[in-house]
Amino acid sequence: MDFRLNPQQAAFQQDVASFIESGLPAGWDQGHDSLEERMAVERDIMKRLASRHWLALPWPKEYGGLGATPMEQLVFNEQMAYHGVPGVMNMGVAWVGPVVMLYGTDEQKAQYLSRIADGSDIWCTLYSEPGAGSDLAAMQTRAVRDGDDYVINGQKIWTSFGHYADWGWLAARTDPDVPKHKGLSTFAVKMDTPGVTIRPLINMAGTHEFNEIFFEDVRIPASQLVGEENRGWYHVAIGLDFERSSIGATSSARRTVDDLVAELKLRQGRVKPELRHRLAEHHIAVQVLRTMAYNIASMQGSGLVPTREAQMAKLFGAELQQKIGVTALQLFGMEGQASPAASRALRYQYTLLRAVANTIEGGTSEVQRSVIATRGLGLPRE
Ligand SMILES: Cc1cc2nc3c(=O)[nH]c(=O)nc-3n(C[C@H](O)[C@H](O)[C@H](O)COP(=O)(O)OP(=O)(O)OC[C@H]3O[C@@H](n4cnc5c(N)ncnc54)[C@H](O)[C@@H]3O)c2cc1C
Repeated sequence: MDFRLNPQQAAFQQDVASFIESGLPAGWDQGHDSLEERMAVERDIMKRLASRHWLALPWPKEYGGLGATPMEQLVFNEQMAYHGVPGVMNMGVAWVGPVVMLYGTDEQKAQYLSRIADGSDIWCTLYSEPGAGSDLAAMQTRAVRDGDDYVINGQKIWTSFGHYADWGWLAARTDPDVPKHKGLSTFAVKMDTPGVTIRPLINMAGTHEFNEIFFEDVRIPASQLVGEENRGWYHVAIGLDFERSSIGATSSARRTVDDLVAELKLRQGRVKPELRHRLAEHHIAVQVLRTMAYNIASMQGSGLVPTREAQMAKLFGAELQQKIGVTALQLFGMEGQASPAASRALRYQYTLLRAVANTIEGGTSEVQRSVIATRGLGLPRE
């Protein structure tokens, strides 16, 4: 197989690299004192990407994208993730928009899509509940039709970006008397609707990324139901199958390995052999992960739906990032506690602590192994 980019893809890669070098706001890669400051930078970056139609890159041109191929999306994601550019992973682009395009009314398309593609609105995803994560269809949040409205009651949890999202993409139970997969519906909910309460959850890395969201008699117009009532489970599944905005995002792992290699070169001769070997192993694994991403993009480009392949890449990438985080901190060892190495080590502390969530978010590794074993390998269920 020839992994070289064609001239058009190579030119696009160059465009993205130039944008990262000179098109981003000053100080975008510095630490920010407050969430407001960080969000201002992210929204600025989103607007800059949108002005090039790169924010919703794979979307058709009529909806504000460029109709990019999966391979172009991969090229874009690799560059952005390698350089750690924020504001790129966007749930509105990843799964809300594709479902609205397929099942939304003309009014919904006009209202939601252009504001996602031009970087005006950020969406969060309201699926998980305290009693429904891996078994997502067990969700209990109710949406009850009342005249021209739906009234929502219940609780969601682990809602990433819920505290600065403009809109929430909600799955809720509309029929409690049918098998659990058949009674769910999907809605667009403005996050400042009366009755929505957002409470922060601080993760083990000490950052505020996700939240608990409470719904108390939240009244939304029935026109915010997206798709047919009680078909929500299929919208959730189709949204995930269409998701291609994160392929290649794991190239942040490649960057960490490259940075650690540079760190090792700085301290010639002062590194335990096992750490050198571990870095060599990570380097190989990063190349394997990259090949997986190219395979996924190539399958998507041929109109195939690489569900099993995407699960494999997610599982492999998530576990690899944890292993790289452990190696990084072992590399700094006690030295990581003292200046000047400490400031460099701090970044890797965050890398490791944040990587713990990688094997949980978007489906746990245990569940993904089960799916690969049953649907991928055809093994019987337990
Ligand atoms: C950083 C982060 C961001 C997130 N962002 C969002 C978000 O924006 N929106 C959202 O809706 N959700 C979000 N989530 C929630 C995420 O989707 C769930 O945490 C995940 O699906 C697991 O569900 P759970 O936490 O309820 O764990 P559970 O499902 O209760 O699992 C607990 C343990 O049991 C194991 N287990 C469960 N079922 C099985 C099984 N059948 N076979 C074998 N083992 C099993 C799991 O692997 C896990 O180890 C986020 C999570 C994290 C960590």
